[in-house]
Amino acid sequence: MSSTLPVLIILFIFGACIGSFLNVCIFRIPENRSIVFPGSFCPICKQDIPFYCNIPILSYLFLQGKCKYCKTTISLRYPLIEVLTGIFPVFLFSKFGLTPPLLFWFCFICVLIVISLIDFDHQIIPDIISIPGIFIFASSAFFIPDMSLKGALIGIFTGGGILYTIALLYFKLRKAQGMGGGDIKLLAMIGAATGVKGVIFTIFTGSFIGTCAGLWALIFIKGSSRQLKIPFGPYLSSGAVLYIFFGESLIQWYLHTIAGY
Ligand SMILES: [Zn+2]
Repeated sequence: MSSTLPVLIILFIFGACIGSFLNVCIFRIPENRSIVFPGSFCPICKQDIPFYCNIPILSYLFLQGKCKYCKTTISLRYPLIEVLTGIFPVFLFSKFGLTPPLLFWFCFICVLIVISLIDFDHQIIPDIISIPGIFIFASSAFFIPDMSLKGALIGIFTGGGILYTIALLYFKLRKAQGMGGGDIKLLAMIGAATGVKGVIFTIFTGSFIGTCAGLWALIFIKGSSRQLKIPFGPYLSSGAVLYIFFGESLIQWYLHTIAGY
């Protein structure tokens, strides 16, 4: 453990820096703005943020959560996303070591974080992320030992196809849009990365987490806010992340304990 500690620290710092970039993506992609230029600036007073005020997590603590110039409160979400993005490479390292799957799953989780937060904020999943994502993450065939191009293709069509059928049936029955096309493309992307087993696992666990969250909202949130359309993207993303870490053991547990195989 002690010999791996420096590796874990480097991985966390690396992840937190990427998390800082993900914050920029989450903020700018829905507004169709460049994620590279200009550099970071305060959304309120438009002052450029110097690099020493843009250090992940530390700057937030150092500035006590306020803009250096106008003292506007900075959302706690920014450092939280940096911490979250920092933790994943550490977890991935402890499961996979320094291997190609670590790199692949970290890129995949970063994209899921961006998609989840944009979906949460705007109830959209931008095509500019999900459609290239389907092609990029089909490279699971080269990074993940038990994946193949055929497996990725079957995953894409299972993910896209199942949700498309559900959405079509819902539309026919209720004459209303239930699930967005964005969810269908997201699930096709998840299928490309995780294959047919992963995508079915994701649909089940994502729906389960979504249902729990929905019940929680029904019980604890009063008034009109609970009528709001709950975005499905964050739940599907959570399901996919659970699959990466616990999919195989949860499936085995389910087959042995619940289904009795
Ligand atoms: Zn400011």
